[in-house]
Amino acid sequence: MSEQTRPVTSNSATPGADPAHSKRPMRLLLAGPRGFCAGVDRAIRVVEEALRRYGAPVYVRHEIVHNRTVVEGLEAKGAIFVEELDEVPPDAHVVFSAHGVPKSVPAEARRRNLIYLDATCPLVSKVHREAERHFAGGGEDQRHILMIGHAGHPEVVGTMGQLPPGAVTLINDAKEAASVQPENPDKLAFITQTTLSVDDTAEIVDILRSRFPSIEGPRREDICYATTNRQIAVKELAAECDLFVVIGATNSSNSQRLREVAERSLAKRALLVPKVADMDWSEMEGVETLGMSAGASAPESLVQEMIKELSMRFDLRIEERIVKEENINFRLPYPLTETV
Ligand code: SF4
Repeated sequence: MSEQTRPVTSNSATPGADPAHSKRPMRLLLAGPRGFCAGVDRAIRVVEEALRRYGAPVYVRHEIVHNRTVVEGLEAKGAIFVEELDEVPPDAHVVFSAHGVPKSVPAEARRRNLIYLDATCPLVSKVHREAERHFAGGGEDQRHILMIGHAGHPEVVGTMGQLPPGAVTLINDAKEAASVQPENPDKLAFITQTTLSVDDTAEIVDILRSRFPSIEGPRREDICYATTNRQIAVKELAAECDLFVVIGATNSSNSQRLREVAERSLAKRALLVPKVADMDWSEMEGVETLGMSAGASAPESLVQEMIKELSMRFDLRIEERIVKEENINFRLPYPLTETV
């Protein structure tokens, strides 16, 4: 994968900052790609477009993406976030989050005459269809599905909820992959959550394939392009860093994985920091090279705020290392594609 290094910049002319010579030098390695993926961008546009077309309030079931800054920004525009549909009044518009929902949720929305818009990322929907395809054969062709993912994550709940109870067994880690005892080991398929660690998942898939040679599944796993690219970018930089900061929410799976990847790739230390106000600046003691990335649900504005604060405290030299350019865009779902 080709790597591109963006020009070195200095902040010595930052307005209002101390003269550069009074500040300790720090090298900042910025990983690219970082931050918003196409699925997150689309989910936010769904809420914004719904507000534009239908007016406030528009209800959103669950955090549209796992980031408080994004959620608060949409609340300010008139979105109301709820956890369950029974909190939504009759005839209201409701958006389902990017993580996807079990089939019971749109069914309940129809039963209650709610007007729903599905912001499920198309790459999550693709996994839903895979699960259905493996199960659909019925009778002898039907496969039991092993889903590699983290218990309780909304994407896992949504994907498992595409099929009847008992059709999917969740595999949380390598230990469970090594011990699972399916009823019919010759009739299995696997799927994965989209935001897992690429390396951990490869290990789990290897275990499943060696225990169950006829298991069906994707060629490698279902981890999405954005998760993969962000992990590769962090891996490239981590070993050079005294500290690696991942900007992202603590409940964001892909942000947590980035922090782990940084640590495993030999960054001396790695932190997950939701926003600049949460930074414990004592962590910067002795740091000469700082690495930085952002989870797929973290807006670039949070990265820029962190850089601005760093610039006030250090004589910052910034290098941006981009391992892959991304130009993926997802269309809005029906009916938001209709002209009004
Ligand atoms: S992280 Fe991947 S699967 Fe999740 S919303 Fe982004 S593109 Fe879609």
